[in-house]
Amino acid sequence: MKGLLTEIRHCSVCKPFLPLGANPIISASPKSKIVLASQAPGKIAHEKSIAWDDPSGRRLRAWLGVNEDTFYNPDNFAVLPLGFCFPGKGKTGDLPPRPECAPLWHQKVIDHFEADPLYILIGNHAQSYYLQDKRSLTKRIQNFEAYLPKYFVLPHPSPVNHFWMNKNKWFESDVIPQLQQEIKQRLQ
Ligand code: SF4
Repeated sequence: MKGLLTEIRHCSVCKPFLPLGANPIISASPKSKIVLASQAPGKIAHEKSIAWDDPSGRRLRAWLGVNEDTFYNPDNFAVLPLGFCFPGKGKTGDLPPRPECAPLWHQKVIDHFEADPLYILIGNHAQSYYLQDKRSLTKRIQNFEAYLPKYFVLPHPSPVNHFWMNKNKWFESDVIPQLQQEIKQRLQ
């Protein structure tokens, strides 16, 4: 795994399309028990070279019911976004992850896991890539149990998702307690 992570951190396959250049952000260990598959690092993550060290990350940790030490231990959580580098901004927010990245790297990382991890699919890009079903994000999350035990589907924890959270209050009251139970079991 160490050699593979070094190779990924030197990757520049889609550098011509990356406005701030390549800076792959990934974290994993052969012992990772849970994989956080999300979209791609934002500009802050690119600048700090660390994933989820922002309001989205704080909310994600609250949802998972873990502290920073547990979260940033790769033996617990692997950080495996669909694109490892910040893709730049478009008119309505961050651009989608570079399409080259996940097909090139994800399976190679997954092949190094010693046991089958739980994949937390955060947001539409990760869910569309891994699930290949036609349900909307809301429908998937309403039916989250259908994807277990391999996958747990979540919306993106970004503060810009306030509208979705307010409209779907069942998510925090019904889904989050089950997510926390699942995480607790996996981390035992
Ligand atoms: S996004 Fe992925 S494929 Fe593209 S340069 Fe970064 S690590 Fe390489």
